[in-house]
Amino acid sequence: MLAAILQKPGVITIEKIKTPAPSRGEIVLHIKAALTCGTDLKAFRRGHYVIPMPGVFGHEFSGIVAEVGKGVNRFKEGDPIMSVHSAPCLACRYCKKRAYNLCENIMNTKVLGAFSEYLLLPPRVVRQNVFHKPKNISFEEAAFLEPLSCVLHGMSSINVKKDDSALVIGAGPIGLLHLLLLKEKGAKVAVSDKHNNKLQIAKKLGADFVLISKGYFSPSPAPLSVLDIPSPLVGESKGEGFPGFDYVFECTGTPEVWGSSVNYLRKGGTLVLFGGCKPGTTVTYDTGRIHYDEITLRGVFHFTPADVKKAYKLICSRTLGVSRLISGRYPLTKIQKVFDKLTRGEGIKYAIIP
Ligand SMILES: [Zn+2]
Ligand SMILES: [Zn+2]
Repeated sequence: MLAAILQKPGVITIEKIKTPAPSRGEIVLHIKAALTCGTDLKAFRRGHYVIPMPGVFGHEFSGIVAEVGKGVNRFKEGDPIMSVHSAPCLACRYCKKRAYNLCENIMNTKVLGAFSEYLLLPPRVVRQNVFHKPKNISFEEAAFLEPLSCVLHGMSSINVKKDDSALVIGAGPIGLLHLLLLKEKGAKVAVSDKHNNKLQIAKKLGADFVLISKGYFSPSPAPLSVLDIPSPLVGESKGEGFPGFDYVFECTGTPEVWGSSVNYLRKGGTLVLFGGCKPGTTVTYDTGRIHYDEITLRGVFHFTPADVKKAYKLICSRTLGVSRLISGRYPLTKIQKVFDKLTRGEGIKYAIIP
């Protein structure tokens, strides 16, 4: 079969590799759609510690069951399915505490290689996180199961209500999924990014305000008024500066933005830190903001099987219109071109159709 191999930063080749065969409990999936994601782009640009190079990559996918191993009863050859690329072990101390997203084995057993013709799904994933794809859901929509599970996990620990105000920093695919979910909850949402073309997409997707950031936000406590946010967003702020958002979602994964994000919260607000930074980076916060203003810093990572079920239902309900985030479709052989585009900041998310 053909597979995209990330050779080194900036270089992808298409290689012929052995088509997988299923052992007991496994499924071999014929990929029908695989989506690019911010993590793939990070790996392409500078390498990523969870994506070994050279190696196959891609982890957002859907497809048709090509072959099942012994003991797989819920699925058979020819079934259209949607799936995520990981599942918890159910045996480690985190799994025993039901913190399944923190499972000690979840990352080292994850599946990579969706930018290929076929993909092998291990028993753990087959048992917990594979679903039948309804007919009216396209393979592209179905492939949103993984990123949507991540975003739903981040939202599961907070309680966004109608008319709450939120700032989403970063208008990439993850930031825009946050936007769609927040609008679904009736929140007032501002989106910030340094690329104007992405902000125009955010506007089309329902952002109440879009804010162009010159480079990144200032790491020093910048006055909120520099954002020039219209006051109706949060009520009676006229004349005394902007009181800040109820929620800020950091979706850029850069320490500078992690640091400055707290400055855009109201007292008692919550910062959701979604974007993962390079390992070893650090951030400094004003203790007064955290203490006297009771700011909550909320780190979020990955997802649990419960989040995947929620994401599955949401995709099947088609309420979010996730396919609007797809900027284009390309065959597997054009994948280098797709990542070159993403590197230039062109487009949000591409579908690779092998
Ligand atoms: Zn992803
Ligand atoms: Zn575990």
